[in-house]
Formats: sequence, structure tokens, C-alpha cells
Amino acid sequence: MADVRSLRKVGHNVAVTSQASAALFARAQAVTPGGVNSPVRAFNAVGGTPRFVRSAVGAWLTDVDGNEYVDLICSWGPMLLGHAHPEVQAAVQAAVARGTSYGTPTEPEVELAEAIVERTPVDQVRFVSSGTEATMSAIRLARGVTGRDVVVKFAGCYHGHVDSLLASAGSGLATFAVPGTPGVPESSTALTLVLPYNDRSAVKQVFAEHGDRIACLVTEAAPGNMGVVPPEPGFNAFLAETCRAHGALFVSDEVMTGFRVTRTGQWGLDGAVEGWRPDLMTFGKVMGGGFPAAAFGGRADVMAQLAPGGPVYQAGTLSGNPVATTAGLATLRLATDEVYRHLDQTAETIKIAVAEALTAAGVPHVVQSTGTMFSVFFTEKAVLDFAGASDQDTAAYAAFFHAMLDRGVYLPPSAYEAWFVSAAHDDRAVDTVLAALPEAARAAAATRGA
Ligand code: PLP
Repeated sequence: MADVRSLRKVGHNVAVTSQASAALFARAQAVTPGGVNSPVRAFNAVGGTPRFVRSAVGAWLTDVDGNEYVDLICSWGPMLLGHAHPEVQAAVQAAVARGTSYGTPTEPEVELAEAIVERTPVDQVRFVSSGTEATMSAIRLARGVTGRDVVVKFAGCYHGHVDSLLASAGSGLATFAVPGTPGVPESSTALTLVLPYNDRSAVKQVFAEHGDRIACLVTEAAPGNMGVVPPEPGFNAFLAETCRAHGALFVSDEVMTGFRVTRTGQWGLDGAVEGWRPDLMTFGKVMGGGFPAAAFGGRADVMAQLAPGGPVYQAGTLSGNPVATTAGLATLRLATDEVYRHLDQTAETIKIAVAEALTAAGVPHVVQSTGTMFSVFFTEKAVLDFAGASDQDTAAYAAFFHAMLDRGVYLPPSAYEAWFVSAAHDDRAVDTVLAALPEAARAAAATRGA
């Protein structure tokens, strides 16, 4: 069944039809809650029919109706090299031919762990299958090592759907959190403190009041899950030092930023320069090369507390899966300095063009970035925290999103997400984005007059 958008003529005179996507969406809704396996894919924040993608090559997605889109989400981060990279594919095909899972240690796991240890400040890593599992396990380890229970996090930072982290701030700064979703018991968030991001005085206050109970502070190394909100200069160093002073562990979540914003992640932009390192880190996305692989890692003495050597239990049937680790290893090996330079330049070109188009159309906006990762806020002021990110004109974003989609550009279907480019975003892909921007900016402007 086609929706109203399905046969509309668009600016560059191509009829975008979403009939096949709409039909699949109807079937999906019958057998899957909301028709999707992760909520943001449903387009609820922007309306319209989610596009069902059939294939992807390089910078391009092709949907089941045959429409092509320049991909600016890159699977929400993992596809650093672009889709279906021939060398990654060849490595994966060879791995599949050797069998897909053995439940034993394998060589690719060792090689991928070595590659991660080489690029980051962690001494050791343990592989898991999702970013959620990585942060969940890091928190368990932090609690096990410190013998403390309380976890501090920031509003607007997402660390996966871990019960204790799906928490909203309580009634006061130093009061414990309340569940952010039905299904999370109050007892799970009763040990979580939620603070405003970039707010040093809030951090000082909760450590002053609860410091001896805090097992760890977990933060996105640079938040990307409320749009990109870089840490203010020195903020991560301040967090590391505050944790150290109170005997708590500093857990830096680089699931999104790791091997993405720079070769060494966000840590390469601050910790490596300033001379500090997190006690624990989490990784995912890029290091899985498009497969379900993630990891947590950290100081050798902390990681030594994990089973089988130590008392803190953690395990996984498919952890370190040989196909996934092969894909991740191939991706990291191909992610050279030249790749990061290309990503930087591409991101810069798109950021400048978006700002110019929105300015020309009179749409208030702020473009923020860290390394190669960026996002556009439809708001007036620089965004420092979740309250600032929430102050957006989401209707204007929805109009902008659909105008871009109609012109062959797939943006994140929510105003609260990072935009991602890849090594495969060439001139043709970038030109398609640039050509779409002026009309999309005018579409956003039109909602403001409405
Ligand atoms: N941590 C961060 C910073 C993330 O961005 C995400 C997912 O987007 C996660 C953790 C959870 O990862 P996953 O979706 O693989 O469970």
C-alpha cells in the first residue's frame, strides 16, 4: 500500500516511489513491534514511510523500490570505509568459508584485540556482541573492582539499553534517578545519578555528596546521541581526575566515536594530548566492520578482575565471533590516515554547505562536530547539553529530512542524531548532497512560516 508520498514529483524531477517499502512496512508491522528492530528506524520522529534498503555499495543505499540515496548515517557509524568494501568483503567471505562460529578462541580475535590495544590507551579488551553489552559489562566490572554500587551518567548520553542507564534525572542534582522507560525497575535506577553534560559544578557536587559510594562515572567520550555535543576543553580530563580523586573508575564510552572521529577515537583529541587515560573504555560500531561486535577494555589490573582470571563474571556464546572480528580487523587495517583525512574534508564540505543553505533560507541552526562526526541542530544557540539539544525546531528538521530524502540523500531520521560520512563519499555523492540542500533548507523555512 503506497503512502501519500509515494508518487510525488520531486525537485530534480525524479518520481520517488516508496510503494515497495510501504508494502514491506505493512507486513513488518504485523510481525514485528512497530515494524522495525530498533525504534529510530520507524521514522516516527520525521513521519512518512521508512525505506527498506535492499543493498548498499560505497556511499549509496538502494531501497526496495529502486531509489538510490547518498547514505549519511553509515549504519549509525560502523561503515567507515563505505558499504561492501571489496577487501572487507573478501576477508569476510574467506572467514565464512572456514565456518562461522566455533565457541573456541581464534586468531582473528587476538589480531583485532592487538589492533585495538595499538590504537587506544587500553591494555586489554574483552569482546562482546553489542555496545549495550559492552557498557553493561564495563559497569559490572567497575562495581566488582571498587566494591561500590553507584553509577554517574549524563543526561542525553546513550550507552545502549542497559537497565541502570535508561534513567532520567531525579528531582534534584544529587538525587538518584528514576526509570526512563516502563520495564526498568526503580531498584535498577536507584543507584544511578544523572547529571547535565559539560557541567563541572554538578559533577563536583555529586562526588562531594556520594563520592565514597560511586563505582564509576560513564560518559560518551563525545556525545553523539543527542546530536554531536563535544566536551568543553578539559572536561574529560576533569572527569578522569575527579574519578581518580574519589577512587571511582572513569568509563569512557567510545562505541560511536572510537576509530571514527579520529584513528584513535575521541581520546586521540583529548586524552592523548593532555596525558590521561580512562580506566575502562567501550567500543563498537567501526571495530565490528558492520557485524555485531563490540568490546570493553582498560587498565590491565582492572581487566584482570574478569573471569576466568578474576571473580567478576562475564561471558558470551558469540563473543569474538571469527567472521565479525575478521570484518573488524579488515576495517581497522584499511582505516589509514588518508581515510581519516578524506573523512575530515568530506565532513567539512558538507558542514559548510549545510550552514550556507540554512543561512540563505533564514533557518536558525548550529553545526557542531568532533573529528569527522558532526550534526546540525535546528536551534539558535550552541548546544552544550541535553536541555540545549531539546530546544530544537523538530518540525523544521522533519521537513528538511524529507526534502533531502526526496532528492536522494538519507539523513538520520531524527534531529537528535549524528551524521556520518565514509571513505567512499566521493565527488558524486557529495555533489548530490550539495545539490539537495537549497531546496531542503527552503522546505525547513516554510514550516517556520506556517
Ligand atoms: N554507546 C554508545 C555511545 C552508542 O552510540 C551506542 C549505540 O548507538 C551504544 C553504546 C549501544 O550500542 P549497541 O546499539 O550496539 O547496543
